[in-house]
Amino acid sequence: MRTKTIAGNWKMNKDSDESVQLIIALKAKSPGFSKDVRVIVCPPFTSLALAKQLFEGTDVAVGAQNMHHEDEGAFTGEISAKMLTSVGCRYVILGHSERRQFFGETNESVNRKAKKALQSGLIPIICVGETLEEREKGITEQVISAQVKGVLNGLAAAEVEKSIVAYEPVWAIGTGKNATPQQAEDVHRFIRKLIGQMYSWPVAEKVVIQYGGSVKPENAAALLRQPDIDGALVGGACLKSEAFNQIIQAANPA
Ligand code: PEP
Repeated sequence: MRTKTIAGNWKMNKDSDESVQLIIALKAKSPGFSKDVRVIVCPPFTSLALAKQLFEGTDVAVGAQNMHHEDEGAFTGEISAKMLTSVGCRYVILGHSERRQFFGETNESVNRKAKKALQSGLIPIICVGETLEEREKGITEQVISAQVKGVLNGLAAAEVEKSIVAYEPVWAIGTGKNATPQQAEDVHRFIRKLIGQMYSWPVAEKVVIQYGGSVKPENAAALLRQPDIDGALVGGACLKSEAFNQIIQAANPA
């Protein structure tokens, strides 16, 4: 059975003091969080070490929002997988649509990063998703298929099993307009079947597929009730402790 997984992507928000305040508020509202839900918090690089420290003793894991595929070298401004693991990171978001849109990331570059992340002991949260134009043209499945095949290219079954795929329709990110539970479920099912064809059905059944795009307390439960929606990657709503905790509660099967 797949564990419901809720990840918060803080994006470029919260300096050190603000990060401490948000984490303290999150901990205060979530007594012990839930062992049945995997919770991952992804602050900016500058707050990773303090997040790791402040979440010590809870089940909350810390993730980064990006990394470079090389181990070290002359890559000004970049961060390696080893640097992330050295501050206690266990997860890394890769190929977010904002990275694809503003920083030129492609399926190939995301694939290189995913390989390095897995080799380094990080679990990648690999993002895919179609634009509004692509959805309106009726080519969502074609786009998603090319993305999934591209980002997973060359990964072993054992690596894919432990990876997380985040389906984030670009038109739903930060817009307040979420995919309906059925729209999201259809694409999640499509991704799972595709992974089944690329690897095997037992592998596909193990892969956690999160939905992302304007997830809020009001729509989380309906989305998370879908059979192939195994969690949420949350942007805006994760910056408010109350809202993020309500989403975590919505994922709690108990
Ligand atoms: C995201 O950035 O991954 C995201 C889903 O953002 P939001 O929840 O704000 O739409």
